[in-house]
Amino acid sequence: MSVTAQSPVNLLDLDPAGLTACIEAAGEKPFRARQVSRWVHQRYAADFDAMTDLSKGARATLAACTMVAGPAVIRDSVAGDGTRKWLLDAGGGNAVEAVYIPEDDRGTLCISSQAGCALDCAFCATGHGGFNRNLTTAEIVGQLWHANRTLLADGAAAPWVTAGHAPITNVVMMGMGEPLANFDPVVRALRLFLDDNAYGLSRRRVTLSTSGIVPAIDRLAHEAPVALAVSLHAPNDALRDRLVPINRVHPLGSLLAACVRYLEHAPRNFVTFEYVMLDGVNDSHAQAQELVALVRDVPCKFNLIPFNPFAGSAFASSPRERIRAFQRVLQDAGLIATIRKTRGDDIDAACGQLAGQVHNRVTRPLASRVVPIIAH
Ligand code: SAH
Ligand code: SF4
Repeated sequence: MSVTAQSPVNLLDLDPAGLTACIEAAGEKPFRARQVSRWVHQRYAADFDAMTDLSKGARATLAACTMVAGPAVIRDSVAGDGTRKWLLDAGGGNAVEAVYIPEDDRGTLCISSQAGCALDCAFCATGHGGFNRNLTTAEIVGQLWHANRTLLADGAAAPWVTAGHAPITNVVMMGMGEPLANFDPVVRALRLFLDDNAYGLSRRRVTLSTSGIVPAIDRLAHEAPVALAVSLHAPNDALRDRLVPINRVHPLGSLLAACVRYLEHAPRNFVTFEYVMLDGVNDSHAQAQELVALVRDVPCKFNLIPFNPFAGSAFASSPRERIRAFQRVLQDAGLIATIRKTRGDDIDAACGQLAGQVHNRVTRPLASRVVPIIAH
């Protein structure tokens, strides 16, 4: 790690090992990394003068070659149900979104991993807008840093905050982008979410959602095995090929086998399958039965997501009774199946509605887009 006055290192970009290397390169003792990490990730300090348990000399050295640069906020919207969405500048006219979802006993932050998404799922606003670029670790971690910092500064009144916890108790990588298509920066961010000297979240409280990039699921199992959610959305390959195009590269058989392998490393003993309910497309009684048979050998729970519409989308949500009937088929087969509550839809913060702003899109055929993604 080289640190120079010309290119200050953003400390939000460094995982624990990277921070130690940086501190050493700055001529400080490696144990200082723990102190700095706590200032940055637990007290959300951006100013080295605030780091009062470091010597003045150490503070000056750090200030000369590093910085703490959180995201620039373009818009901050609060929904009627308390859901809050930040539109964050990603440069070049691009922006990504992070969504805070308060519940009775927890505060969840839904984090983006890419500006746009190349995977083009038929029902997703992010995919609809195209792909611009991968976020850096600093941009991913910056979302959590910013949310905690802002909510604390605003005096968030949630009960768990007064109990000494940070406002954000749970993280879901379910915002814009496919996290496993931006593997290394996402894993570095996950390590910070889990690190006791940073955000200190347990692996059960961090969930990564993927549309199913099989080789990357296997890598994640070894590098940062957090809770796994998989976007299934169809009970067979023919339909999934149309709804989730990455299925043409990693079909259901190999995806479900990867889920079973992942469970050997996962913090929970089930995979969560997300299933967006699309009227007349994937929501019939027969399709529910086909789904039950499909997942027979995978310990799993289902989260049925009412489709959230966005401008230009070609689908409608299944009616409530249809979603309930679909749920009953799964439950009668002994599966746990919940229906996701839609949050923040008055500020377009619900699942699949995050469009951010994506300019200078990369529009290439799927095959050429997925090859670099699976080449890990
Ligand atoms: N790329 C990852 C994570 C981001 S999407 C993935 O696909 O899993 C998070 C979840 O929202 C996924 O399950 C996705 O399929 C779902 N989703 C996308 N568009 C949606 C929409 N319009 N309505 C409801 N859910 C949607
Ligand atoms: Fe990308 Fe996920 Fe949207 Fe598919 S559902 S386009 S993988 S963000």
